[in-house]
Amino acid sequence: MPESETKRSRRFSQKISLTAKMLMVTGVVGLAIWAISDKFETNTLQKIFTSNLNERLSQQARQQRTHFDRYVKGHHQTALIVTSARELHNHINRKNWARTGKPIIIHETTPKWLSTLSALRKFTQLRCVSLLDHAGKVREVYQGSSCRLPKTLLEPSSLLIATSHNQSFLTNLDGTPYLVTSESITNKTGHRLATLMIVSPIDEEFLLASQGAYAGETTVALLETDQDAILVSSNPDELAAGAKLEKLKERYLITGQGLFDYGASDLVVTFISFIPITEVEKLTSVVMVKARQARFITATVFILAFSLIMYWITTRISKLTNRIVEFSEHAEVTTTEQRGGDEIYVLEERFKLLMEEVRLEKDALQHQALHDPLTGLPNRLLLQNNMEQEIHRSQRTNKPFVLIVSDLNRFKEINDTLGHHIGDIVLQQSGERFIELLRKSDTTVRLGGDEFGILLPETNLSDATHIAEKISLAFDKPFLVEDHSLSIGISLGIVEYPIHGDNVQLLMQRADIAMYAAKRTNIGFNVYDPTNDQYSRDRLELMAQLREAIRLGTLELYYQPIVDLRSGKTTMAEALLRWNHEEYGYVSPTSFVPLAEQTGLIKPLTDWVINQALNDCARWIKAGFNLSVSVNLSAHSLHDIALADSLAAKLDEKELQPCHLQLELTEGSIMTDPVRAKEILTDLHDLGVSLSVDDFGTGYSSLGYLKQLPVNHIKIDRTFVTDMNKDESDAVIVQATIGLAHNLGLEVVAEGVENLQTLELLEQLGCDYLQGFYISHPVPYEEFVKWMNTSPWGNASADEKKILSDKKAGPA
Ligand code: C2E
Ligand code: CA
Ligand code: CA
Repeated sequence: MPESETKRSRRFSQKISLTAKMLMVTGVVGLAIWAISDKFETNTLQKIFTSNLNERLSQQARQQRTHFDRYVKGHHQTALIVTSARELHNHINRKNWARTGKPIIIHETTPKWLSTLSALRKFTQLRCVSLLDHAGKVREVYQGSSCRLPKTLLEPSSLLIATSHNQSFLTNLDGTPYLVTSESITNKTGHRLATLMIVSPIDEEFLLASQGAYAGETTVALLETDQDAILVSSNPDELAAGAKLEKLKERYLITGQGLFDYGASDLVVTFISFIPITEVEKLTSVVMVKARQARFITATVFILAFSLIMYWITTRISKLTNRIVEFSEHAEVTTTEQRGGDEIYVLEERFKLLMEEVRLEKDALQHQALHDPLTGLPNRLLLQNNMEQEIHRSQRTNKPFVLIVSDLNRFKEINDTLGHHIGDIVLQQSGERFIELLRKSDTTVRLGGDEFGILLPETNLSDATHIAEKISLAFDKPFLVEDHSLSIGISLGIVEYPIHGDNVQLLMQRADIAMYAAKRTNIGFNVYDPTNDQYSRDRLELMAQLREAIRLGTLELYYQPIVDLRSGKTTMAEALLRWNHEEYGYVSPTSFVPLAEQTGLIKPLTDWVINQALNDCARWIKAGFNLSVSVNLSAHSLHDIALADSLAAKLDEKELQPCHLQLELTEGSIMTDPVRAKEILTDLHDLGVSLSVDDFGTGYSSLGYLKQLPVNHIKIDRTFVTDMNKDESDAVIVQATIGLAHNLGLEVVAEGVENLQTLELLEQLGCDYLQGFYISHPVPYEEFVKWMNTSPWGNASADEKKILSDKKAGPA
């Protein structure tokens, strides 16, 4: 037996099989129906039989009564015939017949004068006949073997003779009912010579005789009406005299035909007919047996047919159940051992399980269709679906969204050298890193291989670059897989809807381009540039070179002095980045700093600048200049919550005071995320570094808002300053700004001072610090130190007044 079958039989052995159950039910129900219908039919038949028999009995009783009446009346007819017979007349007319004193002659055999009797026997049974003389005295008696003349009739009363005369008279004689009829025998003159009296005991024989040919078919009886008891019956064995009618009704169907109505009776009797109920039952049962046989055959056929159908159905159900059980076992559908219940129960349970399984399977398939089995992340299809939804949403809300496509940098090498097993773990860990970094509303998917896609709903490019930066940093941290510490790195391509494409395909394609560019140039992340592919390629190349320049330290910082107008001396120097490119010569920071911001390069760049600036600052302090250095930060730094700590560490390292460092932040960078900016600025302020709002006037921030920030200076943008000596509106703006800033307790730096008039104007307006070509161009460190030593704005010793006039005369 195969294993599954053993299991199954074990499982089903605990219960009766469905087939057996259904066959049993069929049998029991069939028998029950049969029994009920049998009972019902028997009752109905019995009722029908009873009523039929009643009908028959009453008909029969009428006939029997008629027979009885006729028979009774027949006695009188007989008397008439007998009395008219010649033999009787001859007998009476014999002399001496009427002589008195003679004893009564008793005939045991039929006397001659009764010779007519044999002819009459057909009508009447003359069992007892007496011959009376004219005086009414009994002379002769004939009595057959079954009859003795009652004593009363040996000397009959004249009343009895009279009442029985010319009719049949029923009467009770010596406690027994008798029929008495008498007829006179007269001579020619009409004189009565004698009287013939026929006496018949009304007994079983009488009743039987009265019924003639029908005798014995059913029992008839005379009922003593006032007693309600049997007087005499045609079958005394069954119905003895004295039996109470009430009792008899239990056993017999009884039909009574009422009282005798011809008045020739002094007995109150009723003629009744009986049929024993057993007869009804017998009759019923005869029919019933036949009907029952027929019914039994029908029922058996039905039950058999039904059983067959049941068997057929249930075996098929069983087969189906077994198949399903087999299937579910084969499909390893988890199930608890079925206890109790038949195949239908099992079928039901299995169905439930299978349905659940199918549902799970469907979900799993759906999940599988939209997810990557290795990382558990959604796949390309789901990303595309979500992007489509995002496009719709974006069209409604007018909010952009961003797609980032990423590719691991050294995945292939790791996969090839350490094996797929390690590669798989790297991919899984990559998925985890993404999930940790991103919001729940973002979608991270594995596009295939080591490519991942990230959908950032309701996000703009600026936010996206910060996210890309975070991702970049996270992937710069080594992956720990088994015993290996693996440096992987990641390249990210960024596109924004709708500016970089209005459909899923285009966005994916361009994100890919951006990503490959970032990879090629090793710049971490890169925003797709829609304007000019060539330009963007150049730009990317530039970024690659910038990365190299940072690594090699081939960048430079130039310093531009900032003069305190009160003392006329340089108290600060702004560090300005210079990149002397092999091919393009000096590249302006205005062109490569924003590029670095878009590609993950800004962080190393800023780090480099800060480091360099602090180094230089430390150097000039050592050289005896009490100058603070002013460093430009990009918006990116305002997302770096570790900035204050890392600056503190660096200041410590270079043995500088926080007041030696000043940080310049543009209005725009503060306003991108004012809440975050405020937090970071507060940290920086707490550290003790001084803070400047750069390019003031170009953004939308109000001084009112800036008041809430812990800043120390504002730097009025050079576009207002440079021409203020010629452009009155610029002068008005500068004047108002200085006034308001002072009211808020902020010091004002004017940048872009290119001539003396401007300088004087600013002096008049009460500006605090000056910066510009008029004082000095930004210059390399060495030159700056030289300038400090020689310029009157620098450290060159000159008396105050001379300084100012020298200053006014312009730099040498
Ligand atoms: P900024 O912070 O407003 O820097 C002042 C800019 O004005 C400098 O240009 C400087 O050379 C120029 N300048 C100074 N005096 C005058 C003047 O009298 N007339 C005119 N027309 N220009 C003057 P630069 O060095 O090309 O820097 C451009 C911008 O690049 C800076 O503007 C700053 O926003 C950014 N930048 C420079 N270095 C760095 C840096 O290290 N990090 C960051 N994040 N940004 C930097
Ligand atoms: Ca600046
Ligand atoms: Ca500026």
